[in-house]
Amino acid sequence: MGAEAGSQSAVDIFVIGGGINGCGIARDAAGRGLSVRLAEQGDLAQATSSASTKLFHGGLRYLEYFEFRLVREALQERETLLLAMPHISWPMRFVLPLHPGMRFETKTPTSRLLTAVMPWMRGRRPAWVIRLGLFLYDHLGGRRILPGTRTLDLRSDPAGRALRGEFTRAYEYSDCWVQDSRLVVLNARDAARRGAEILTRTRVTAARREGGLWTVDMSGPEGETRCHARALVNAAGPWAGEVIRDTLGRQGGASVRLVRGSHIVTRKLFDHDRSYIFQGRDGRIIFAIPYEQDFTLIGTTDQDHEGDPSEAVCTPAEQDYLCAFASEYFARPVTRADIVWSYSGVRPLYDDGARSATAATRDYVLRLDDRGAPLLNVFGGKITTYRRLAEHALEKLAPFFPAAGATWTAGVALPGGDFPHDGVAALQARLVADYPFLTKSWAARLIRAYGTETWLVLGEARAAADLGEDFGGTLTGAEVRWLLREEYARSAEDILWRRTRLGLRLDAAGVAALEASIAAQREET
Ligand SMILES: Cc1cc2nc3c(=O)[nH]c(=O)nc-3n(C[C@H](O)[C@H](O)[C@H](O)COP(=O)(O)OP(=O)(O)OC[C@H]3O[C@@H](n4cnc5c(N)ncnc54)[C@H](O)[C@@H]3O)c2cc1C
Repeated sequence: MGAEAGSQSAVDIFVIGGGINGCGIARDAAGRGLSVRLAEQGDLAQATSSASTKLFHGGLRYLEYFEFRLVREALQERETLLLAMPHISWPMRFVLPLHPGMRFETKTPTSRLLTAVMPWMRGRRPAWVIRLGLFLYDHLGGRRILPGTRTLDLRSDPAGRALRGEFTRAYEYSDCWVQDSRLVVLNARDAARRGAEILTRTRVTAARREGGLWTVDMSGPEGETRCHARALVNAAGPWAGEVIRDTLGRQGGASVRLVRGSHIVTRKLFDHDRSYIFQGRDGRIIFAIPYEQDFTLIGTTDQDHEGDPSEAVCTPAEQDYLCAFASEYFARPVTRADIVWSYSGVRPLYDDGARSATAATRDYVLRLDDRGAPLLNVFGGKITTYRRLAEHALEKLAPFFPAAGATWTAGVALPGGDFPHDGVAALQARLVADYPFLTKSWAARLIRAYGTETWLVLGEARAAADLGEDFGGTLTGAEVRWLLREEYARSAEDILWRRTRLGLRLDAAGVAALEASIAAQREET
C-alpha cells in the first residue's frame, strides 16, 4: 500500500462512482459544508450516465404501472433542472402518432384494469386512455414553462410528412432534453468548486469499517492509496451489487437488476425539431429524437443483461428491432445501412421481482446500513431524479452530520447555466458579436455545451487560428485545453464521446491528431 491519502483527516463522505448519482450526491453534500471525496474507476459518466435517452422526463409510460410517486417527482424536476442548466437542457415537444393497433404490455396494472372492466378491448391501448394519461402528465407535476398537450392533424402538420400516410392524428406533449454526460461533469465541477475532491481513473478496491470510520482502499494514477471516511456512499450504478459483495465483502440484502438499453443513431430522418414517441405492437415505446443537429437518435430496447456492464453493446438483433420498430412509422424504412453509430447502457434497477425487464421499477431505493459507520447504497434512479435522489441521500445521512447545511440545490445554476431559461438565442447572438469568426452552428454547439463559460473557453481569440489546432468538427486546441484542465478529460474518447459528441464528426486523422495533442500536453505537465 502506498501513501495513505488523507489518513490523518478523514473526510465526511466518500462516494464510490462518478455517474450522475455519485456526482449529484457529492455536489449536494459539498454545498452543505461536508468534506467529500469521490472516486470513479474510469472517466466521469463513462457508464450508464452517458448512455441514456437523454431526457428529463416524467416517464409517460410509467403511468401505466401506477408509478405516480416517480412520475410526479420527475415531472416537477423537469422545470427545476431546466432553470438550473438552460445551456445543456431544453424543452422538447413529442409527437405521439395514434393508430388502432396500439397495445399495452399485457401485464401492466392499467391493462389488467381495462381488461377487467372492458374485456372486448383485448389489450388495446385506446386513444382516450392516452389522452387521459397526457392529462395527468400535464397536471401531476405542475408546469410553468412547458406547454401542455395538443392534438395534431398529421395530414397538414409538418410532423406528418416523414410518417406513413396511415397516421393522420397525433398528440403532442412536452418533456425536456439534456446532454447527459455534460450534466455529470458539471455536477462534478460544481462539487469541486465547493471543496469536493474528484478522483477519476481511481477504483475503490476494498472498504471496511475500522475504529468508527470507513477505511477505503483505492487504485489509481497514484498507485495504491488509502483514506478514511465517516460515511460511505455506494453509487456504483450497475456495479452497486458487485461493490456490496466484493468490495465490502457483504452477503445478501437488496440486489440490482441489470437491464440493457440500446440506441442507434442515423443521419437525420426528418427536418423539424420535434421528437416522436412510437408505440409498438409489443406494448413498448421507442423515441426518435433530433440529435446533434444532423442526426436522429432512436431507442431504446429493454433486455436483461448478463455479464460485465461495461461490455454492453447494441447487438445486431437490437439494431434490427429498432429499425423494424421505426419503419412501422417512417415513410422511408430505416435499415441497418442507415446506422452511423450505436451505443448501449445498463440500467441499474432495484430488483423488485418484476417479470419483465420493461416492468421493473424505474424508481430509486436508498438503503442505509448504520451498523457502525454509515453505508448508503443507491439503487436505480433516473437522470431526471438525480437531484432529488441526492437530497434524499443527504436526508438519510443527516443524523450523522448534525452541522450539515439544509437542502440548497433547487434553483442554483450549474457552471455556465447562470442565464435565463429562454436566453440561449440572446447568449448565442452575444457570442457571435464577440467572436465574429464563429459559424452559426459552431456558436450554437459551444453555447449548448458551455453556456456563459464559452467566453472562458475561447479567451482572447480574434480569429479561428488563435484557437490553436483544428481537429475537425469545430473542435480546436483551445477547447481541448479547457476540457483537459477544467473538465477532468484525460483521453480522446473522453472528449469525443462524453464532453462533446464530436466523435460523430471527426475522421480518423482528426482523432489521431487529438490523441497526439493530448499525449504531448501530458508530457508537458
Ligand atoms: C438505455 C437507457 C436509457 C435511459 N434513459 C433515461 C432518460 O432518458 N432519462 C432519465 O432520466 N434516465 C434515463 N436512464 C436512466 C439513467 O441513465 C440512470 O438511472 C443513471 O444514469 C444511473 O446513474 P448512476 O450514477 O447510478 O450509474 P452510472 O452512471 O453507471 O455510474 C456508476 C459509476 O460507478 C463507477 N464505479 C463502479 N464501481 C466502482 C468502483 N469500485 N470504484 C470506482 N468507481 C466505480 C462506474 O465506473 C460508473 O461510472 C436511462 C438508462 C438507460 C440504460
